[in-house]
Amino acid sequence: MIERNKGFANLSAGYLFPEVAKRRRDYQAAHPDAQIISLGVGNTTEPLTPHITQAMEDYVRGLGTVEGYSGYGDDYGLSELREKIAAVLYPGMASPDEIFISDGAKCDIARIQTLFGPGTPIAVQDPAYPVYVDGSVIVGATGKARSQGGYDGVTYMPCTAENKFFPDLSVVKPGTLIYFCSPNNPTGVASTKEQLKKLVDFANENGCIIIYDAAYYAFIRDQKLPRTIYEISDAQKCAIEINSFSKLAGFTGVRLGWSVVPSKLAFADGTSVRQDWCRVMATLFNGASSIAQRGGLAALDSKGIAETTALVDYYLENAALIRKALTAQNFAAAGVTVYYTGDSPYLWGYFPGWKSWDIFDKILDECRVVTTPGSGFGPAGEGYLRFSSFGHRKDVEEACVRLSKLGL
Ligand SMILES: *Cc1c(COP(=O)(O)O)cnc(C)c1O
Repeated sequence: MIERNKGFANLSAGYLFPEVAKRRRDYQAAHPDAQIISLGVGNTTEPLTPHITQAMEDYVRGLGTVEGYSGYGDDYGLSELREKIAAVLYPGMASPDEIFISDGAKCDIARIQTLFGPGTPIAVQDPAYPVYVDGSVIVGATGKARSQGGYDGVTYMPCTAENKFFPDLSVVKPGTLIYFCSPNNPTGVASTKEQLKKLVDFANENGCIIIYDAAYYAFIRDQKLPRTIYEISDAQKCAIEINSFSKLAGFTGVRLGWSVVPSKLAFADGTSVRQDWCRVMATLFNGASSIAQRGGLAALDSKGIAETTALVDYYLENAALIRKALTAQNFAAAGVTVYYTGDSPYLWGYFPGWKSWDIFDKILDECRVVTTPGSGFGPAGEGYLRFSSFGHRKDVEEACVRLSKLGL
């Protein structure tokens, strides 16, 4: 018999979102008439915008003709799109040959695990998007699950109200791969330039590499906040940026993302990280969908930018409604604190005296609203709930009415 992959054996029970979905299903089965509304998963709900849809439609029609047909494209992505991303999002910060088009940020994070392999220690913000740790567990870069939550061999960097959700980096050992997400999922906090400078300086001084997940950059409305890590000087020497059209343009189902791997970034032996990344992308990937890439190009021209800005604004308006509901008298009286600056689709609420799954169940039962338990994002998320603003306006409005009646 073949031995089970040890990494899988180390993986603790259930990924967060399947457990949330299971509790919702069980509740629905027990209450068949309940109209459940989800403020849970981070999945987009609004349609693709007209200009972007048209670009993909035109391209698909072309594919159905001899002249317009094309097969495999460049492993690293359409040159036009790499140039567009460099020009629009990284002027003076990254060149087209440092940009790699992919089928999404989560997929890039998975491939990054193969780039670094099992020998590299990792550090994550706590709480964090579960994929950084779970993916590392699968490739054997960590130890076993701990009874108190988390995994052996992972450095958790608590991000709490006390430290304004920016971690104490002194817990990180030299030579660590640091996963960092801003605006953060789940806390919704976008780091400032000063904070990111601290992170970049720390990485450069300690031989660390940062995997910077900027999937929510389009939600940043405060002009003073950095939208990319490369706004910080010397980030090219220590940071890979992972990004996506998913939350920017509603491409969660279409699938399109990109990574930025600067040519200045090197391993201990001097090999360029970019060189190995080229190899990973060519070997384990065969290029993003040509249709999706046409949509991505359209998303970054002036019409596309106007449309996607309005699309993101819609979710930000939802978030403002949720914020209002969560700061109303019934929540305030119970000491609930809501962290939200207006630069993210997520609101992060602290419920003193509650375990995350208990307050999740109570809100599901009394409001028939699904949220996400903070504890599922890491040990420091205990006592918190994440509220997502991805949803149709009428559903969000109804959820807010129900939340206003919640007795705490
Ligand atoms: C949604 C999300 C992504 C995007 O993943 P895709 O695979 O591009 O859809 C990446 N990082 C975080 C933190 C996310 O929440």
